[in-house]
Amino acid sequence: MKTVINHVKLYDGKGTVLENASLSFDETGILAVSEQPEQPAEKGDRVVEGSGRTVLPGLFDCHVHLGSMEGDSQVQTGALAAAQIWEHLRYGITTVRGCGSRWNADITVRDMERSGHLTGARVVASGIGITITGGHGWAMCHECDTADEVRKAARLQLRAGADQVKLFASGGMATKGSDPDMSQYTVEQMHAAVEEAEKKGALTCAHATGLGGAKCAIQAGVRSIEHTQLDREACEMMVRQGTWYCSTITTRYGIVNSTDPSVAWMRQKAKPTDIENMLRSIRLCREYGIPMAAGTDSGFNELICPLGTGLYRELWLYTEAGLSPMEALHTATGNAALLCGLQDVTGSLRSGLEADVLLVDGDPLKDIRQLANVRMTFRKGKLVYENL
Ligand SMILES: [Zn+2]
Repeated sequence: MKTVINHVKLYDGKGTVLENASLSFDETGILAVSEQPEQPAEKGDRVVEGSGRTVLPGLFDCHVHLGSMEGDSQVQTGALAAAQIWEHLRYGITTVRGCGSRWNADITVRDMERSGHLTGARVVASGIGITITGGHGWAMCHECDTADEVRKAARLQLRAGADQVKLFASGGMATKGSDPDMSQYTVEQMHAAVEEAEKKGALTCAHATGLGGAKCAIQAGVRSIEHTQLDREACEMMVRQGTWYCSTITTRYGIVNSTDPSVAWMRQKAKPTDIENMLRSIRLCREYGIPMAAGTDSGFNELICPLGTGLYRELWLYTEAGLSPMEALHTATGNAALLCGLQDVTGSLRSGLEADVLLVDGDPLKDIRQLANVRMTFRKGKLVYENL
């Protein structure tokens, strides 16, 4: 079915804003982005009045964990992952980058969504991650202690169909007994995974809460580093290597500000300077021209980082760091697509791309928090969520 949205403010995901525009699309893709306020419609087309609203590309969350993180059975994990990819649509999120999933649950739901058995966000999947024995995230990882073991695990993941190899370069917050500042792998060990991923055209990403681990990952050529509190040396290395930054400040914000006793053990690992350091890291990326993609770490603890609204908070924190709302939106649209290699598929509103489209009330380009006013989400041209 063709949909036409008229008289709407349009952000194309690549830096262009049209004030009184129109957009048409169907299941085959985006048909026309027009500066004219109206486009012709025929009987049977869905015509949506867009005045007072903003249309933008469906959002990306570039760091999620699908399925349960510990305890549950394989069936529960898979069922939860399926529910989560649907749940993202309610928040206008039409693509997620899975950054570690037990039993390769994210790979399975990615394939089931592709084949039409599930309705949900598009998934870029890592499946099982790679960490040291007993290291950070071990419950969802291959435990590998040498370069050869890392290489073997990377090959296993690529064989299983992973789009990305997920490495744990340092300790972190969410595993009991894990020291966030501890480095886990050498440059050489991580490079073994990077080499295997690159042979297959796959992505790599590294959990890198600790700066030492982050610097090893950058040197190893890992494509994106996650969670890090950057210094200038790291930024200079990232510029040289073309490394991306995925902050997930929203989760640290959740840890620092949560009063729930169940997460007190995580809060104890946090430092009072964490939020300021992460805001500064975002400013440093802007200063150095380091590309950023928005991610949250949703999926591991709803109290700390709720699915969906955690992304709105992430983007709001980027504006608190000094990014304009448009720059913040770019990290969850055009730039996010670029990180995932999906720039010719989705992430912007351009004719020919798949019609992943979000319509919100108000104007998130003035106040990023208005992203929360989701009215309609379309995935590949189909209306998948509506709140009119
Ligand atoms: Zn994570």
